[in-house]
Amino acid sequence: VGKRENGCGMEGLIELVNRLQDAFAALGQSCLLELPQIAVVGGQSAGKSSVLENCVSRDFLPRGSGIVTRRPLVLQLVTAKTEYGEFLHCKGRKFTDFDEVRQEIEAETDRVTGLNKGISSIPINLRVYSPHVLSLTLVDLPGITKVPVGDQPPDIEQQIRDMIMQFISRENCLILAVTPANTDLANSDALKLAKEVDPQGLRTIGVITKLDLMDEGTDATEILENKLLPLRRGYIGVVNRSQKDIDGKKDIKAAMLAERKFFLSHPAYRHMADRMGTPYLQKVLNQQLTNHIRDTLPTFRSKLQSQLLSIEHEVEAYKNFKPEDPTRKTKALLQMVQQFSVDFEKRIEGSGDQVDTLELSGGAKINRIFHERFPFELVKMEFNEKELRREISYAIKNIHGIRTGLFTPDMAFEAIVKKQIVKLKGPCLKSVDLVMQELINTVKKCTKKLATYPRLCEETERIVAGHIRDREEKTKEQVLLLIDIQVSYINTNHEDFIGFANAQQRSSQVNKSAVGNQVIRKGWLTINNIGIMKGGSKEYWFVLTAESLSWYKDDEEKEKKYMLPLDNLKVRDVEKSFMSSKHIFALFNTEQRNVYKDYRFLELACDAQEEMDSWKASLLRAGVYPDKSSVS
Ligand code: GDP
Ligand code: MG
Repeated sequence: VGKRENGCGMEGLIELVNRLQDAFAALGQSCLLELPQIAVVGGQSAGKSSVLENCVSRDFLPRGSGIVTRRPLVLQLVTAKTEYGEFLHCKGRKFTDFDEVRQEIEAETDRVTGLNKGISSIPINLRVYSPHVLSLTLVDLPGITKVPVGDQPPDIEQQIRDMIMQFISRENCLILAVTPANTDLANSDALKLAKEVDPQGLRTIGVITKLDLMDEGTDATEILENKLLPLRRGYIGVVNRSQKDIDGKKDIKAAMLAERKFFLSHPAYRHMADRMGTPYLQKVLNQQLTNHIRDTLPTFRSKLQSQLLSIEHEVEAYKNFKPEDPTRKTKALLQMVQQFSVDFEKRIEGSGDQVDTLELSGGAKINRIFHERFPFELVKMEFNEKELRREISYAIKNIHGIRTGLFTPDMAFEAIVKKQIVKLKGPCLKSVDLVMQELINTVKKCTKKLATYPRLCEETERIVAGHIRDREEKTKEQVLLLIDIQVSYINTNHEDFIGFANAQQRSSQVNKSAVGNQVIRKGWLTINNIGIMKGGSKEYWFVLTAESLSWYKDDEEKEKKYMLPLDNLKVRDVEKSFMSSKHIFALFNTEQRNVYKDYRFLELACDAQEEMDSWKASLLRAGVYPDKSSVS
């Protein structure tokens, strides 16, 4: 790998990585490998851009106040015969004018961040070919800010830190920590941040800028000699151009001469002048990056190889794929059909993997049909209570036929209940339809994966939907049969019957159940026999449950007059008196006890026969059975 045609192994490595980067860029985002590079970090105005420009020997970076670098700039320097710049985002266009490079960086920054001066971690890739550069890959990052500048969002500091972290936390990234000498070194933002990801200082390179700006009488020898805050790779001091130099268009060559002169003439740095300055920094960076690549290459290569293997494996499968070969075709078809069936089952039966959080799956929707929609349909059905009462009264009358007064509620009850059971057919069939629809929808969702084969997709849908429709018919038949079975014989001895439950409760003295509190009927009735003694009968609001009959002052049910337990009660007809137009029935206790206070009978009167009949039917449901003898 190291031996390239130019014969220089060191140079070769960085270029090799550059070529790899090109190859990856051509592949798109599919390569997850991260290439070795050097990230330049430091506080605002620490001198990062200056260091980079010195490495290129060109002015090409945007300058100004505030956060100028707002996207990472991945700068690849390549030793070449001619000098030009090239951006990845407009490959092929050669920039020979470095003012244009700067303009393009500015324009490309705004293209992604917009004009509102936001930041973005999407890098700009710039490659500079030049005879004056040593091969290097440097990443210019936004400066670490302390206070938001101008109209920057207040969380900009955190955003920048996160972006820097994204780069420097990678193990194969060298960190160029730029710190100005005229600030407190121990508080260097760059060194602090580097320490977070590289606590032992193994991949951090220290750069001390602005040595020319230190207070007279002070110097940075302690840190430059790697004694103060030691790093494995040490520190290099540089002197960049001052703002005045830049304004005065001092060129970089002249600046470097001045820098060299500074180190040679400074008493504190003279002895180490050969290990200071921009040219030395370039050489060190080039060497260290090369070494770093060499060190990381084995792992890098094995990662690449395993990727290659898996891709080759995939390619192999396609190589063997002969469209004319019928066995291959069948296999592919079977695989797709099998996948369809797995997907379908997962959507209906549920599964832990790849859970959809956007919408309910087919299975969940079907569950809702059964547990929410169906009960609702049933309740809706029961709502028409008035009609039911009318039906009951007609049923009773029709059973009486020509006769009157003979009490035959069982038959009436059966006739009505049968009609009610038959009514279940509607909601049941409707539920089947809804479930059907959901199954068909689910099929459609699962065939989406087959969209590349429109005919297969269509046929799968047709066959599966056809099968589901077959089952629909059978299901409906079965549901209707079940209802018919229930209609054909009504087992009133079944515990589902309220009267039955009530009777059982009475005998075993079980605690009040939910059934017991269920209201069976409400309405106005007149208490006949008691009122007369007190000078006029009185109307009350009655509430019948499976356990008791209560009456209130009125239908607001606030003022409760009395609650009569239904235990051992029976109902009896009371003969109509000549005096009254009222229809009367009476409740009494079968154990010869008073039913209410000192009354043997509680006589209840209503205006219409129908009303009375329906009250008696309700009492029957509550387990209060009629007694044949009538009260005289
Ligand atoms: P960045 O924000 O870290 O990219 O810093 P710049 O490279 O833009 O430098 C910020 C300011 O410091 C500019 O005005 C530079 O001219 C100035 N500067 C950078 N390095 C030095 C240095 O070594 N000596 C002097 N005197 N000024 C410097
Ligand atoms: Mg900068």
